[in-house]
Parts: sequence; C-alpha cells; structure tokens
Amino acid sequence: MPMFEFKCEDCGHNFETLAKKDERVVCPKCNSDRTKKLLSKFGFSCGSSFKPSVGSSDCSGCSSTSCSPT
Ligand SMILES: [Zn+2]
Repeated sequence: MPMFEFKCEDCGHNFETLAKKDERVVCPKCNSDRTKKLLSKFGFSCGSSFKPSVGSSDCSGCSSTSCSPT
C-alpha cells in the first residue's frame, strides 16, 4: 500500500500515512478531516529501489504515476 503525504487544511500540519483510495484521512495533530492529499512524493514508484528523496537528475521522467521500472 503506498504512502501518501497529506496536509491538514485546518492547522497546516504535514504528515504521511498509508491510505486507501477514497479513505478519509484525519489529521493526527488536530483530528480534523479537512486534509488534502499532496502529490509531490512519488519516489517509491521510481524504478525498483526505493529512494526517499529522488532528484530530477536521477529520474527525470518521474513526475507522474506512470513511471515504469526497468
Ligand atoms: Zn490538523
């Protein structure tokens, strides 16, 4: 199950969590359900090995979800 990064629209807290599709995510800090999914992190889908902070030089084509591993 992929990790997603969320931002709470009430308190501005950023957090990562495992989330199913359409699952409501609650802010761990203030328990608000007004959380917004961020699409900035797709390092886990970039190739076969996990890279926490993928730079643009390493995988330039990884700006979308359709990054096929070789
Ligand atoms: Zn919050």
